[in-house]
This record gives sequence, structure tokens and C-alpha cells, in this order.
Amino acid sequence: MKRFLLTLVAAAALFSASAQLTPNKIVVPDIKGYKTLTGDFHIHTVFSDAQVWPATRVHEAIWEGLDVIAITEHIDTRHQKMVNNGTFVKEKCDRDYSYKLAKKAAGKNLIVIHGGEITRMGMPPGHFNCLFVKDNDDICAAAEANNHDHVLAMKGGLVEARKQGAFLMWNHPNWCKQAPNETKMWKEHKEILKEGYMDAIEIYNMACGYTPEGHKWALDNNLAMLGNSDCHMPFFYEIDYLHGAHRPVTLIFATEKSEAGVRDALDNRRSAVFAEGNVWGREQEVRPLLEACLKVKNTQWKEKEIVVEFENVSSIPVTLTKGKGSEDTWYARYIVIPPFSTYTYKVRPLLDGDKQPAFEKLSLIHI
Ligand SMILES: [Zn+2]
Ligand SMILES: [Zn+2]
Repeated sequence: MKRFLLTLVAAAALFSASAQLTPNKIVVPDIKGYKTLTGDFHIHTVFSDAQVWPATRVHEAIWEGLDVIAITEHIDTRHQKMVNNGTFVKEKCDRDYSYKLAKKAAGKNLIVIHGGEITRMGMPPGHFNCLFVKDNDDICAAAEANNHDHVLAMKGGLVEARKQGAFLMWNHPNWCKQAPNETKMWKEHKEILKEGYMDAIEIYNMACGYTPEGHKWALDNNLAMLGNSDCHMPFFYEIDYLHGAHRPVTLIFATEKSEAGVRDALDNRRSAVFAEGNVWGREQEVRPLLEACLKVKNTQWKEKEIVVEFENVSSIPVTLTKGKGSEDTWYARYIVIPPFSTYTYKVRPLLDGDKQPAFEKLSLIHI
């Protein structure tokens, strides 16, 4: 393709409320070398304090086009419920049962990760998700051995989860109930991080929104970034699907679409977050993702202008902003290209007093 230059710097974007009828499948292109998977790694069911049966969580995810979910009940005894003949019986709880039901319902249509949420009261330590666990009852027992001290209880649970080979995420550090005045990493979290029991931070949670602090801590400490729903209600209560909205998702850049591929991507920190029309992540994944979302076609070179057609082939709205060095060219400061739409744009040099060849001044961004 003919290489051309434009001083457009791309940034993640504004939400486009394109009126679509459901289903509103989330489409995100692959990047070079990796398949881009969409996932939600924080979901509750009736087996802890939510309203929905595990199989329904599977169907909701398939309907939205997700590749992977984790069922992450609050595993602490006070939240656990076992459904028995229509009644909840705490004494009979099996903390892995909702995962088993979800896994069975999913078959080969959706990857379901075995998870659990250690849910200690107050901050610190707050809540941690353990993903790729083997036995939540053992993790709960290890935590509750220190029920008198929430930090010790959390550490006990994390140590047992790690013994099982789990991947460990600090959840919603910005939850207003636990961090009403500021979002901060407490010394207890620093210890957990230093001792190697924090692999990821939930930088977006549907109830709490985006946390720039969490994003920065993930960047500074080489942690994976996840964005999840933490959904307790049926999704249609929470998401305005009729107006094109979707749940927040974690983007996983995997070598293969499998449970092992998801784990490898998380271990190697190849993830990003897509929520509220924005993508948050590391430049090494976000930049190629942008380039994959936006195709340039039908470029026409004329004497006094270039006509370019941009096509957004993704669910991610793209905003291009005017970049440095473009003061003497005429084009708008922002170009918003909504999902699955095409935008035709003309770039023209100033005609008066322009000594330089018009298009040499334009410097690139992409293609
Ligand atoms: Zn939580
Ligand atoms: Zn939760």
C-alpha cells in the first residue's frame, strides 16, 4: 500500500451510541502474532450473593460474543449458598459447584475459568480474585483459619491459591465503599505485591469505573490489567444493549484460543481493558490494536489534496486527534470514527505563502 503521511495521533475514544438492535456482539481485531480474546474475569451467581444461575452467565457471555469468563463467587462462608430443593443451605456449600455448572453449560462454546473471590471486610486488604484455582473450599479454609485478622486471612487464602497454581488479582481498589476518600495502595498491598501474591489489578470494574491509580500501579509493577463486570444482577439490568452498550471486557492477546492461551497471556501481561468506549493498556498492545481497528482505503492523491477513507472494523470507537507539526494544514482537531463505520477525509495544505511541498510536511501515524 502506498505509504502516506498524516499528523494524526490516535487516541482511545468517545463512546458512540450507534443505535443497533441487540445482540451487540463485541468485535475486536487480532493484532500481529496474537489472537485478541474478550473476557470477563469477575462474575457472581446465586451461589454467592448474585441473582443469576451459572448457566445463565454462560449464555449471557456467548450472546455478547465473549471468548472467556471466570465465575468468581465470594468464597467466604458468610456469602456462600447451596441451592437445595429451592432453598439455600449454607451447611452444604461446595464452593466450586457454580463453576462446575457453568463449565458444563459452556461446553466448547466458551472458555470458563475456575475462580473465586476472597472477600475480606474493609480496606486493607479488600478483595482478591483467584483465577485458575483447583479447590475453593481449601482456599476458604486457609483464609478463615485467620478470621480474626483480615489481612492475615487474605494472605492465608492467597498462599493456598498460589499453591494451587492460581493467578491473583487485586479487585476494585477504587470501590467507594472501601476507598471513599482516595484510591491508594496500602502498605499491606505493597507487602502482598513484594511477596509475589499480586499478578494483576482490576483497573476497571463495572460498579466502580476506571482507576487511573490502578492503571499506573499495573504499569509500574508489571502487572496484568483487567477490566470486568463484577456483575450480580442479570446483565440486561445493567447494560443498555438497545443503545449499543456492552459490558466492560478484558482484552487478552493470546497465542491460541484456549484456557492455556489465556493463562499464558495473563502471565506475560498481554492484556488491556475495553470499557465505556475507551481502551486502556500498554502501548505495545494498544498501538497495534488501534492500527488493526482502522483500515485506510481508497486513498486519492490529487494536486492540492489527499482524500482518505478510514474504515473502523471494530466495536471500538476511534478518535484521531490533530498532532504536532500540523499547524499549517487544514483539518479538524478531532475525527471520531464510530464502530463499523467509514469516514472520508480530505487533507489540504495552506495555499498562501507555503514554500514547502505540500505533503512532505505531513508526518505519519499509521499504515
Ligand atoms: Zn469484590
Ligand atoms: Zn465481586
